[in-house]
Amino acid sequence: MYNVTLIPGDGVGPELTEATLTAIEATGVKINWETVKAGADIIEEYGTPLPQEVLDSVRKNKVALKGPLTTPIGTGFRSVNVALRRELDLYSCLRPAKTIKGVKTRFDNIDLVIVRENTEDLYAGIERQVDKDTAETIKRNTRGASERIAKFAFDYAVKEGRKKVTAVTKANICKFSDGLFLEASRNIAQNYPQIEYEERLVDNMCMQLVQKPEIYDVLLLPNLYGDIVSDLAAGLVGGLGVAPGANFGDEIAVFEAVHGSAPKYKGLNKVNPTALILSAVLMFKHLGEQKASENLYNAVVKVIGEGKKVTYDLGGSSSTMEMGQAIAEEVKKLTLAYN
Ligand code: NAD
Repeated sequence: MYNVTLIPGDGVGPELTEATLTAIEATGVKINWETVKAGADIIEEYGTPLPQEVLDSVRKNKVALKGPLTTPIGTGFRSVNVALRRELDLYSCLRPAKTIKGVKTRFDNIDLVIVRENTEDLYAGIERQVDKDTAETIKRNTRGASERIAKFAFDYAVKEGRKKVTAVTKANICKFSDGLFLEASRNIAQNYPQIEYEERLVDNMCMQLVQKPEIYDVLLLPNLYGDIVSDLAAGLVGGLGVAPGANFGDEIAVFEAVHGSAPKYKGLNKVNPTALILSAVLMFKHLGEQKASENLYNAVVKVIGEGKKVTYDLGGSSSTMEMGQAIAEEVKKLTLAYN
């Protein structure tokens, strides 16, 4: 039995969470969910979108599955998600982008992993209005944070049998901040002679990703480039509906889709649960539940491949819950076959 914090989130979060829980339950893995509320919908009740009990629960359980959270305008939060990552020191953001058979894309052989630094860079929140016609945001990188994310990327490459890490910066222009990130990446790369290491400038990287994404493996990026390039990578494999993610600190892991709360679809039971379900695939792997992870992944691939019970973004007309239930049915079959 695992104790896991569940943050259903707001917007489309609760409906996606419900469909995802249906698929997770079908694996047979016993999870004791501690459900905590966060997001735009609870501000009136709690006075904040991120109550202390959310942080306390994740700190206690060390693992969380999280729906998207809207950042409401004027609450004092730059972003609720950024605040959560910072409070829990979830410094590594992992976003795999892998082709799924049955999803219409320009390429059929993409298997990329984005490793994004999650705590500093232009997200450090150091900005000000200098005068009425001038504003500035400071891009702040430190050696410690750059080295720990580089180490995370190389350790991940070793653990997952990956061949290459590409550090992506704009160090030709941001000579100090990105220069430091690059220097840290080079230093760490020296400790991993078995992993190929290369560097790209972020503009060139974007062009190469849309021309020949199949030649890239693990991409290591500072915060802002990581955010942008991971949406690009999501687009390459079928869009935000199929893009999972995870945030890791030294002890805590929070699993969530790349996408946001898609407010215009709230309550319509229409959006794709795949991204959150694939985030649960990553969660099972993290928990050491390898078979449940594989079964859940293979069930997603089967349902998408058949194309009968898929949501609008994949060319179907099924609801969020219908797709979740179809995945759950496949999981049950795979789990039975395994037992
Ligand atoms: P979004 O990702 O919520 O939605 C953009 C568009 O992507 C949607 O309109 C929809 O067309 C598509 N989309 C998103 N999720 C989908 C799914 N599961 N299935 C099918 N299509 C899907 O981005 P946004 O509109 O820029 O942001 C809305 C809110 O979400 C903002 O408040 C933002 O701050 C927040 N946000 C939260 C997170 C997070 O919780 N980690 C991440 C990004 C944005």
